[in-house]
This record gives sequence, structure tokens and C-alpha cells, in this order.
Amino acid sequence: MNIADKHHQNNHQERFYCPQGNEVDVFLHASKNQLPVMIKGPTGCGKTRFVEHMASRLNRPLYTVACHDDLTAADLIGRFLIGKDGTFWQDGPLTRAVREGAICYLDEVIEARKDTTVVIHPLTDDRRILPLDGTGERLQAAPGFMLVMSYNPGYRNLMKGLKPSTRQRFVSLSFDYPDTAQEVRIVCHETGISQEIAHGLVMAAQALRSLRDSDLEEAPSTRLLILCAQLINSGLSHASACRAALTETLSDDPSTQEAIEDVIRAHF
Ligand code: ADP
Repeated sequence: MNIADKHHQNNHQERFYCPQGNEVDVFLHASKNQLPVMIKGPTGCGKTRFVEHMASRLNRPLYTVACHDDLTAADLIGRFLIGKDGTFWQDGPLTRAVREGAICYLDEVIEARKDTTVVIHPLTDDRRILPLDGTGERLQAAPGFMLVMSYNPGYRNLMKGLKPSTRQRFVSLSFDYPDTAQEVRIVCHETGISQEIAHGLVMAAQALRSLRDSDLEEAPSTRLLILCAQLINSGLSHASACRAALTETLSDDPSTQEAIEDVIRAHF
């Protein structure tokens, strides 16, 4: 099972990323000092893109693991498999990153089972080691190795939280939706849509985001605006694109959907 995506931009081409603040600097300094990084923020606000950008900028391979509630420590570290010549050990993505000096990005780490956080503890202090119980090895992380984790501190995760003993090993960055000019730039860059349409979508999204706490479980993310712009770009009417990409995606409840449509019509 391949649970991780590996990316390596050999041509040094940087992944497009529009900074929100000083996160690029903080990350560069964390990397220089071999410190792990935690990125907090709502879904679809650029966390993954930021890590991809930093990996390409630092010219490091990147292993991205999308965490889920069945993810175990063995999925990260590795396990013995049975082949035609008997059993053999296969490294998991975390182990590969540790050996290669790569960046390992655990996306939505709060979703993973608790035992996964235990394996990262010895990697996130100055020992930087990964004990492999299966093979008896104690791996010393190669110099470029960096652990990056993200989580969405939304209300559903309030109870789950991360233990202070885990949290306090990380340099932390807080992300939010980009400001108007940046979000317009991102939507235009990612889809090729006109500035005018991108601006309308961003205005509608901002109005919907201000409803977030009252009516909407999740606010529309930059990713959703990009989906909507793609539909418009390919010829779907504004109304149909907004209905499909925004209204139906954000809510199942007819009266909330109506409220969403009203907000969109007023701004876009
Ligand atoms: P997250 O990891 O926070 O859920 P992503 O990084 O996958 O979100 O962002 C979703 C999409 O939004 C990206 O694929 C990218 O197209 C776009 N995006 C969001 N923020 C930015 C940004 N600051 N710079 C460039 N693209 C961005």
C-alpha cells in the first residue's frame, strides 16, 4: 500500500505560493535549525501548497501523508511483508524521509491514531532518532530531515486536541484564508479566470465566511473558489457553478442553502 505521495522538483522550479505573512522566513529558519513545524488552519487555505513550495525551494524531497483514523504507527514507519523469497522489511514514508533527509508532511495529523504521535517524539527533540523495533535499527535522521504536521483547529477537533507534550515540540504557524488581493491573485493564477470574476467570488466567500460561526459548519475555502472558477472558465453559468461548487458543497440543509444563495447573489 502506498500511503504517501512523494514529490521531488528536480528542475528547481518553485511551486507557486502566495505568502500570507512571515511564514516563509519562519520555515527557512526552522529548517536551518532542524526544528519541526506545526501548521494550523482551516481546510483549503494553503497549508499543503506552502509545504510543497518550501520543499521545492529547499530542493528537498517531500513525503506527504494524508492522515486518517485508521493510520497506525506501522503505516508511517514500515512493516514486514511477505514476498516470494520470504519476509522482508519495507520502510514507511516517515522512515524513508528520515533516511533520505527529506521533508515528511503529516497532513491533518489529529485524525491519526494516538500511537502515531508516540513514534514522532524521539524525532522531534535534539536526538532526531527513529527506533525501528521491527529491524532493531536506531536511525539517526539525515541532516535535511524535517517533520511538518498540519491540523485544522475547527470546533470538531476541540475535544481531540494534541497533547501538550506533543505540541510543545514544534514551531507553530497559524494560517487563515488569504486577504482579498492575495486570494484574487491565487484564484486567477490557479485557474486563469479574469480578475473581475475572481474578485466577485472572493467577495461572496468573505461574506459567507462571516456567517461561519452562526450557520455554516465550514466556511468556503480558497480551494472551493478555485473549483468554482474552473467550472465558470469551462463555460458553466455563474449561477450553476456557484450552486455546484459552493452551495451544495457547503450545506445539505435547504434553508441554509437558500441563505448561501442569497449571500452569493448579493456579492457576485
Ligand atoms: P490545505 O492544505 O490548507 O487544506 P491547500 O494547500 O491544498 O490547502 O490549498 C488548496 C488550494 O488552494 C491549493 O491547491 C492552491 O491551488 C490554492 N491555494 C491556497 N492558498 C494558496 C496560496 N497562499 N498560494 C497559492 N495557492 C494557494
